[in-house]
Amino acid sequence: MVDFGMFQGKAEEAKLNFIKPDIDFDKLSAVVLTHAHLDHCGRLPMLVNWGFKGPIFMTEATKALAQIVMFDSAKIAKEDGSKGVIYTDEEVFEILKQVVLVEYDKPFAVGDFELTMIDAGHILGSASVVVKETKTGKRIVFSGDLGNSPEPLISPTHLVSEAQMVVVESTYGDEVHERRDEAECLAQMVEQAEKERGTVLIPSFSIERSQELLYIFDQLKKQGKMSNSVPVFLDSPMAIRATEVFRDFPQLYSAPLKTQVKTDDPFDFPNLVLCDTIEKSKQIKNLKGVKVVIAGSGMMTGGRVIHHALNFLGDPKTQLVFVGYQAEGTMGREILDGKKEIKIWGKTVEVRAQIKKITTMSSHADQSQLLEWLKKIKGLRKIYLVHGEELPRLVLTEKIKQEILDVEVVLPVLNQEVNLDK
Ligand SMILES: [Zn+2]
Repeated sequence: MVDFGMFQGKAEEAKLNFIKPDIDFDKLSAVVLTHAHLDHCGRLPMLVNWGFKGPIFMTEATKALAQIVMFDSAKIAKEDGSKGVIYTDEEVFEILKQVVLVEYDKPFAVGDFELTMIDAGHILGSASVVVKETKTGKRIVFSGDLGNSPEPLISPTHLVSEAQMVVVESTYGDEVHERRDEAECLAQMVEQAEKERGTVLIPSFSIERSQELLYIFDQLKKQGKMSNSVPVFLDSPMAIRATEVFRDFPQLYSAPLKTQVKTDDPFDFPNLVLCDTIEKSKQIKNLKGVKVVIAGSGMMTGGRVIHHALNFLGDPKTQLVFVGYQAEGTMGREILDGKKEIKIWGKTVEVRAQIKKITTMSSHADQSQLLEWLKKIKGLRKIYLVHGEELPRLVLTEKIKQEILDVEVVLPVLNQEVNLDK
């Protein structure tokens, strides 16, 4: 089994998290985890009660990040009784005992197959999995999520040279990313906040995105594009822990970051405040004047960003800056779509803040990067498009048919079985 993530978003999809798939888990020989995002690792602890006793292969960085993600989701399930307890801390501890660490580019055996993890360049530790049938040499590749290379923090996506079949993500199959300009955008926003003595509030995902933001502010301060005296609060215990994991794996950094880290910590700079306690978080609202607050969760579905929203959204000097995707049904999406009043903990909050959006910080490959990745694979006959909504999958299918000849494209549906011998 490759990945076992959590369904997120709409209520009817979230219900699927509680349904046991029709799989004999005691007969399953192994699980491979491509990376630590919740939609890939989020249901792994449920395997404990379903009789799976085998190994779960992943890279060391993925393990370090995935355990943060899984413990957090156990905590959220406990606190938010309405959604039901999916699993507990104990089950996360149990499943971690079954983890077997593997390295990039070093093949390992699972039954009649030889597997190799290849750096996917998506987040720290992320991998694509090449599965080779030992007897026939036939290969199928699971892309996992592919990166938007070159990424500022991590090394670029490694390409796969040969395979007959691929199962590839298609999140941005219908889109070409714009040129990266997030550092310039943030510099301008901070400059404006300095003039207005206002707050730049950034709801942010804990893993990768928060570290990218720290790195940008580190650079801006170093280059004199932002005053050293402007305080930046990282108000997310999960993001603080994830930053520690980033510090533990400098060998996985991008080339520029590898050079920088020899003389400077890319995730630390003057007036960075790590809010590891709730008290430090609460004090932020008392601080008058210019400040930057990075707080989870990324789509404002919970976490500390909620009480900052309560305190700062009514102030026209606040700039609320979205740096990632906002799913339908989330508070982030409502505000982004222009809602002028929102309910927080029973209180009505008038949205008078300036609503802004930075679209260039995606950690997913876009249409052209997906096509380039596919074109490098020799012998490719069949492409399964997964991990994308209908429109991106259809648009990407057309593109593949135009640009790559002699391949069959399949758009599988949930629980569909396919015969790989055909
Ligand atoms: Zn991902």
